[in-house]
Amino acid sequence: MSKKKVNIFGTTGSIGQSTLQVFRGYKDEYDFIAFSAHDNVDQLIKDCLEFKPQYANIGHEKHFSTLKNALYDTGIILSYGRDALLDLACTKVDWSMSAIVGFSGVEVSLLCAEHSKILALANKEALVCAGKLLLSICKTYNTKLIPVDSEHSAIFQCLAGERRKDLKSITLTASGGPFRNWSLKRMHSATLEEALKHPNWSMGTRITIDSASMFNKSLELIEAMHLFELEFSDVEVIIHPQSIVHSMVNFKDGSTMAQLSLPDMKGPIGYALNYPKRLNIDIENVDFTKIGSLEFYMPDKEKFRSLEIVEQVGRNLDLGVIFNAAKEIALDRFISGEIAFLDMADLVEKTLAESSLINKIAKTPQKISDILEINELTRVIAEKIKF
Ligand code: NDP
Ligand code: MG
Repeated sequence: MSKKKVNIFGTTGSIGQSTLQVFRGYKDEYDFIAFSAHDNVDQLIKDCLEFKPQYANIGHEKHFSTLKNALYDTGIILSYGRDALLDLACTKVDWSMSAIVGFSGVEVSLLCAEHSKILALANKEALVCAGKLLLSICKTYNTKLIPVDSEHSAIFQCLAGERRKDLKSITLTASGGPFRNWSLKRMHSATLEEALKHPNWSMGTRITIDSASMFNKSLELIEAMHLFELEFSDVEVIIHPQSIVHSMVNFKDGSTMAQLSLPDMKGPIGYALNYPKRLNIDIENVDFTKIGSLEFYMPDKEKFRSLEIVEQVGRNLDLGVIFNAAKEIALDRFISGEIAFLDMADLVEKTLAESSLINKIAKTPQKISDILEINELTRVIAEKIKF
């Protein structure tokens, strides 16, 4: 049997590294085609030496000579920069992991959807910013889209073998992040360091802060609407501090199905790789007697305003690209110390209210060039909002 061809974009990130862990031990069964990183050239070199992909791309030109010097005798075809990255995403493969963080991963995800038989999608921004386009590409090219985000993987697993029309609604669980028990007053002075202390999950910097503000859950709500063809009112968000129940599907007959596992992204990644089979992954099953109790309650939308603001996007999915771009700029400005933690929600709300952006959205059908343009326009506006 010929080996399956695999691409891993965002190899050096948190999801990229968990993906390599899933492949470790089965390396001989796959042909690794393309790996990519942006800045972390040392990790990319290590991964290339271990997995020997055919191609490797580094984002920044300044790291290219380091990459070449380290890998000159390996036969790996090396490149740098965005154009070469997009070319690699056009390689025909069996399975692609799209795990570049943020809007930078959107175009890569769309190209993977066109050129891979299976798209394992971690880059949730692709669905938020270009959900309609991504799903139509998957349909045209008969690509199987398997979500990697743990909540969406849970829903996908709960729906296996079910009739879509029997689904009534879904319940997305959220850990509540490090500020779950903080007062609103205390959150005003939340620091970057405090926002980075996620209680349950180990993830990249940006998604960790998005979890603290619950912007991550807002993105996931939109992600779920696209993936499972749901209305905004069909998706509920609840806090579940233990992060054991990854999400739930509520059926018409009063049954609710949930997927439970310890919080470890190797689970959803392995499911996306082995689907529809379940092969060995090195994760313990949940020991219920050790956990003792699982809690669930409603989020406080005064503290986590993103959950309220996202309703505008839920009612008009075309606003997703504006919401995401504003959120990315808000995050940059919080990380740089320019704005406070709670200002991020204000910035997104003010950006969404910009009538020039709304007009632009209203007249443009979803093409990648439109999405890129609206993303750029939004960033310029969001950068200028004063506090
Ligand atoms: P990380 O920040 O850990 O990794 C991001 C990856 O993308 C790295 O390989 C990074 O390269 C690369 N990258 C960053 N910027 C660019 C750019 N401009 N162009 C090309 N490549 C770039 O992120 P995560 O792994 O945490 O998240 C990846 C995606 O998966 C996100 O969309 C996130 O929302 C989603 N996700 C993550 C989960 C998690 O547990 N981490 C859970 C569910 C979803 P370098 O390392 O060189 O900087
Ligand atoms: Mg998630």
